[in-house]
Amino acid sequence: MNLPGSGIFKGMAVTALNFVGSFFDPKREKRLITEQYPEERPTLVETSRSFPFLIFDNDPETGIRCVACKICEKECPPQCIYIVQDKDANGKAIRRPAIFDIDISVCMGCQICVEVCPFESIRMDNIYEVSSYGRFGDLVIHKNQLLKSNEYYRQIHPTEAAETDARIEAARIKKAAAAKAAAEKAAAAKAAKEAEAKAAATTTQPEQPAQ
Ligand code: SF4
Ligand code: SF4
Repeated sequence: MNLPGSGIFKGMAVTALNFVGSFFDPKREKRLITEQYPEERPTLVETSRSFPFLIFDNDPETGIRCVACKICEKECPPQCIYIVQDKDANGKAIRRPAIFDIDISVCMGCQICVEVCPFESIRMDNIYEVSSYGRFGDLVIHKNQLLKSNEYYRQIHPTEAAETDARIEAARIKKAAAAKAAAEKAAAAKAAKEAEAKAAATTTQPEQPAQ
């Protein structure tokens, strides 16, 4: 049976052992659990996450995956995403955002925006040095700052990025197969229609009188 308060003394003994061991133990590196930040940078695990970013393929202008559907904006629990859809010269809506802001002073890193995005457009970054003296405006991150390449995503979350790439490739193959099947069906229907018309023309041809 443990005496009341004995856990405190056990804990203090472990602390004392590590303290003394950090000076004399040949393997003292393992006992030093603090890091001399910022001189020593922490090694982030692959699953670490902070705030969202937007992915583009090859080119930030033409390769942006986001289509401004606003699903993430609606689903974000603290409502810290603000999106305005882009328009062309005639005022017609374009499937991309003109404005995409995230207020990271409010974002709680829940990743719901990532989960609900149907276009694999938004992912969680692992940056952590974003402090600023400006409490409000300075912590609103704009589209040009949010846009990062798929290569960057592959670097920070390689496993997750590989799964995403595989899903995108599978969807591309499926879409191409569906388009090919539709084209073949249309061509077959056209050929059948032409054959039908030809047959009808042959049967309605008047018989030539006998000489
Ligand atoms: S991580 Fe959560 S809080 Fe932050 S923008 Fe996405 S949905 Fe909103
Ligand atoms: S990030 Fe995804 S869910 Fe959000 S607006 Fe863009 S495409 Fe839609």
